[in-house]
Amino acid sequence: MSNYQFKIEEIIDQIRSTEAKIVGLQFPEGLKIHATDLAREIEEQTDSLVVISGDPCYGACDLSDKEMEGLADLLIHFGHTPLPIDQKIPTIFVEAHYQLESLKILEKALELLKGKKDIGLVTTTQHLHLLEDAAHLLEEKGKKVIMKAGTGTLKGQVLGCNFSAVQDLPVDAFLYLGSGNFHPLGIKLSTKKTVIIADPYLNQVRDIDEFADRILRIRFARITRASEAEKFGILISSKEGQSRWELAKNLKNMISEGGKEAYLILLDEINPPSLMPFMNLDAFVVTACPRIAVDDSKMYEKPLLTPQELEIVLGMRDWEDYEMDEIKY
Ligand code: SF4
Repeated sequence: MSNYQFKIEEIIDQIRSTEAKIVGLQFPEGLKIHATDLAREIEEQTDSLVVISGDPCYGACDLSDKEMEGLADLLIHFGHTPLPIDQKIPTIFVEAHYQLESLKILEKALELLKGKKDIGLVTTTQHLHLLEDAAHLLEEKGKKVIMKAGTGTLKGQVLGCNFSAVQDLPVDAFLYLGSGNFHPLGIKLSTKKTVIIADPYLNQVRDIDEFADRILRIRFARITRASEAEKFGILISSKEGQSRWELAKNLKNMISEGGKEAYLILLDEINPPSLMPFMNLDAFVVTACPRIAVDDSKMYEKPLLTPQELEIVLGMRDWEDYEMDEIKY
């Protein structure tokens, strides 16, 4: 049985009201396992035919509207809240809420927050519905909870690579409710404050510091190696929500002004095989999803840099001013 709540009745009502004949469904990888069950329910309860997007989906930045255009009348995108980008077909965003049996994990996290009074509480879309109860629990234990909405995000929400809800928040530490290290790492690098993870999936609490140190050491090694590069590839995404064309052109100019060569390369999927034909280049700069350079770096033979890391390579930024890359909409 799934711990995710998809609000199927609301989805059915919306499909009926749009009278869509063909409905596209799109899920991030972790939710795709529910795709056929939802497709069956929709086909049984409406007159619509359902087509499931089978391609990888990395975030709300990666809508399959372009692929579904001309095929589906309506796209239902699960698991993310919308980003301010145009959609080629009508799209409904469905937040998949993860049901937790209890918030006991927060009590465990309090042990790592001793001496910290003002706490920034943060989570991702699937746990947003728990934030109010979580804040209440922390306040009962004597903490002051401070949250704010970001640019294009809700109160206490980190969405993809958008960390604006934590920036400039006057807190002693952050408490992140959720799984994975990418978001807590982003919070740490954006704010330089203590970040404690309360992971309800692993039933574990941990400080992000050790992981952040390890990642920074790897990033330093990549930057050092790229400092010897003479030829750079600048990778641009053809996904609308990940496309930073102006940035890519600026980076090419920066590299050229430094007396080195740079080539603009447009790709839909960035992965090691897609870079194989470009092994004559010494390093790559990713203007697409910021996670590619940071999460997947070990998979690549040549160094992959974020735009901020390129600035360090070119001597335009100090290592002490290292920043996580973010796509700002
Ligand atoms: S570009 Fe940002 S929002 Fe999109 S997948 Fe990457 S990290 Fe997530």
